[in-house]
Amino acid sequence: PVNDDRSFFGHPRGLATLFFTEMWERFSYYGMRAILVFFLSASVANGGLGMEKPLASSLVSVYGAAIYMSALAGGWLADRLLGSQRSVFYGGVLIMAGHICMALPFGSTSVFLGLLLIILGSSLLKPNISSVVGSLYEKTDARRDSGFSLFYMGINIGSFSGQLVTGYLGEKVNWHVGFGAAAVGMAIGLIQYKLGARHLGAAAATPSNPLTADERSKAYGRIGMSVGAILVVGVVMFLTGTLTAYGIKNAISIAAMVLPVIYFTVMLRSPKTTKVERDRVKAYIPLFIASALFWLIFEQAANVLNIYADERVEKTVFGWEFPASWFQSVNPMFLIVLAPIVAWIWLRLGTRQPSTPRKFAVAVATVGLSFGVLALVALFGDATTKVSPMWLLLVYGIQTVAELLLSPVGLSMTTKLAPAAFLSQMMGMWFLSTAAGYGIAAQVVPFYSAENELAYFGILALCAIALSVLIWIGAKRIKKLMHGVI
Ligand code: GLN
Repeated sequence: PVNDDRSFFGHPRGLATLFFTEMWERFSYYGMRAILVFFLSASVANGGLGMEKPLASSLVSVYGAAIYMSALAGGWLADRLLGSQRSVFYGGVLIMAGHICMALPFGSTSVFLGLLLIILGSSLLKPNISSVVGSLYEKTDARRDSGFSLFYMGINIGSFSGQLVTGYLGEKVNWHVGFGAAAVGMAIGLIQYKLGARHLGAAAATPSNPLTADERSKAYGRIGMSVGAILVVGVVMFLTGTLTAYGIKNAISIAAMVLPVIYFTVMLRSPKTTKVERDRVKAYIPLFIASALFWLIFEQAANVLNIYADERVEKTVFGWEFPASWFQSVNPMFLIVLAPIVAWIWLRLGTRQPSTPRKFAVAVATVGLSFGVLALVALFGDATTKVSPMWLLLVYGIQTVAELLLSPVGLSMTTKLAPAAFLSQMMGMWFLSTAAGYGIAAQVVPFYSAENELAYFGILALCAIALSVLIWIGAKRIKKLMHGVI
C-alpha cells in the first residue's frame, strides 16, 4: 500500500515513533558510554573499578566493536525469524535490562553482565530500527532520504541530551545513578514504542526472507556451531589462563578485523553475485577501509578524548568545574546545526557534487586534520599546563564536518552497492566498518598518554592523510567499478 501519510514533518506518522525510540535508545547508549572510561578507571574508593587507564580505554573500544559487530547477527535474526518490528522491541528490553544491571552497585560482575546485555540488545535494535524506517517508504518515494536525515537528527538529539544528563549524574553524583538515567531513558523509549507501534502498520513487521522448514534445521545447526565455536574459544582461553580482560579484548579485536575479510570473500565468491555486482563489492573494499580508519579516529571521543578533556583541558566556568564528559555532547550539537546546511549544499550542487569516493577521501583527511590540531597543541604547549576548551571544540567541530561527509553518504551507498542476494547483510557490513575501526583502536588507544601526545595524534593524523591521498588518486577507478552508482 502506498503510504501517503504526511503528519510528521511531511513524513508518515510511523517515523515519529521510530524517531523517538531511537532518540531514547541513543540517549542511553551514548549517555552510558560517555562515563564508562571514567567509571572503569576510577579508584574503588571513588566508586569505580580501579582499572589502569590504558586497559579501561581499550575496553571502551572493544565494547564498541562488539556492539557494531553484533549488528550482523541482529539483522539476520530479523530477516529470517523475528521481523524487524519485534526485534526492535526485544532489543530495547535487553538494553534496558543491561543498564539496570549497571545501575546496581554490585561491582564488576553486574557491570560486565550489563554490558553483555546491552550488546545483545543493540544487535537486535540498532540495525533493524533503520530497516523499519526504510520500509515506511515505497522504493520510489522521494521522501526516503530526507526521512533518514530526520532520523539521524533524532539520533543526535538523544546523544546530545543523554551525555549531558548521565555525564552530570555520573561524574558529580554517583556512577550508578548515571547508568540508572540511561535505563530510565530506554524505558521511556520502550513505552513510547509500544504506544506508537500501531502507526508502523505492516512496515517490516514480518521476516522479509523467513526460514523455510528445511533451512531451519540447517540454520539452527549453524547457530549452534557459532555459539559452540565461541564457547570453545572461551574454554581454551580459560584453560590457558588468557580469559582475562586483556584476553577478551584481544579476541574481540581480532574478530572485528577478521570478520570483514571473511564476509568480503564470501560475497565475491558467491555464485549468486553477478559480474557487475562483484565489481561493486570490489569498489566497496577501499571505501570500507577508509570508513574503518575514519571511525578508528572518530570513535576515540569516548576514551582518548574523554581522558584528554579530564586531564588536560581547563573546565572551570564561573568558579564551577563542569564534567569532562560534557564535551561528548559537542559533536551531536554541531551535527544538529550543520546537517541541514550540508543537505542544502548537496541539493544546490545537484549533479556537480563530488563522487562518493572523493567525499570519503575528504572525510578521512578532515578527521586526520582534527588529530593534527591536537598534535599542534602538543607541539606548542607543554604537558603540565591545561589547554583552552576552545581547542577541543575546534577538534569536534572539524570531526562533525567529516562525519557528515562520510556517515550518511556511506549509509545510502551501502544500500546501492549491495549485491541483490546480500541486500540486508550489507547494512551489517557498513556497521562492521565501525566495528573494525573500534577493534583496531582497542590496540592503539593504550599508547595514548599526556607525555606522548605529539607522536600519538601526529602519527594517526599522517596515516589518515596518506590513506586519503590514495583514495583520492584511486577515485576514478573506484567509480568505474561502481557501474553507474553515484
Ligand atoms: N552516530 C551514529 C549513530 O550512533 C553513527 C555511528 C557509527 O556508525 N559509528 O547511529
